[in-house]
Amino acid sequence: MNSGRRFEGPSDLHLHSTYSDGTEPPAEVVAAAHRHGVRTLALTDHDTTTGWAEAASAATSLGMTFLPGMELSARHEWRSVHLLAYLIDPDDRALRAMTDRIRSSRVDRARIMAERIGRDYDVAWEDILAQTSAGTTLGRPHIADALVAAGVVRDRGEAFAGILSPAGDYYVDLYAPDPVSAVELVVGAGGVPIIAHPAGRAGLLPNAVLRRMLDAGLAGFELGHRENLAPGIRTLRGIADQRGLIVTGSSDYHGLGKPNEPGENTTSDANVARIIAAGSGSEPVYP
Ligand code: AMP
Ligand code: FE
Ligand code: FE
Ligand code: ZN
Repeated sequence: MNSGRRFEGPSDLHLHSTYSDGTEPPAEVVAAAHRHGVRTLALTDHDTTTGWAEAASAATSLGMTFLPGMELSARHEWRSVHLLAYLIDPDDRALRAMTDRIRSSRVDRARIMAERIGRDYDVAWEDILAQTSAGTTLGRPHIADALVAAGVVRDRGEAFAGILSPAGDYYVDLYAPDPVSAVELVVGAGGVPIIAHPAGRAGLLPNAVLRRMLDAGLAGFELGHRENLAPGIRTLRGIADQRGLIVTGSSDYHGLGKPNEPGENTTSDANVARIIAAGSGSEPVYP
């Protein structure tokens, strides 16, 4: 439909709003990206598409292109895997059922973590809810914000390094699909699945899992991300070159929730065009 339309770079395809664990509503995220020179952006809140409309209208009013996105939670054994899902159909039944399930499990696990934390610190469930707004995908960052508000820790980083660590006594897993099912769901919703920050401290996914994800339609890797480590980037770049995969770079902006700044990594026009050509579940919104 929009095949004749053009987007403009620089493109930042991974940013979060208050609909997940960013600290700014979509319009402010878009304005921050614009200030940093970004001209095409994707909103990729965890397990929700609720912010799309607000982000799209803010983007077009600033002359920017909006690319619909989401960061779908998945898990392989003990490690969490984040799958960026571009141009999905937001009403796809199977994907919606999955994100509903993940989001409700996020509430259950946060309640249990709140109860455990409440035994040792003066932070209650209501204090965590006070850090969210209507439609927020709840996560550990909101527990972190409640701990900051209570003066227990200085910032989210300190909370994650201590009280919220998976190695600690308070941690509870959330439900998330395995990475291959996650790819299948995104592909089934017409989307373009790309592994977020695939070369972080946890190390690469095992080759066998990567291969099965690729067989299921994995489109590429987010190699430009501040958490990726050089050896892993080299390995994945080799696989991407060999298979002709899409490679992206993005900021993973979370407002004040992380030091990441919009536009600190960007995706080439050629790779943005490939994502747009490959996605069929929704359309970019052009200015
Ligand atoms: P959850 O999915 O609820 O277990 O929380 C994971 C989320 O917390 C990720 O989406 C990250 O954006 C965020 N996160 C992880 N580590 C940190 C950190 N050190 N500082 C701020 N946010 C973090
Ligand atoms: Fe996040
Ligand atoms: Fe992530
Ligand atoms: Zn993210």
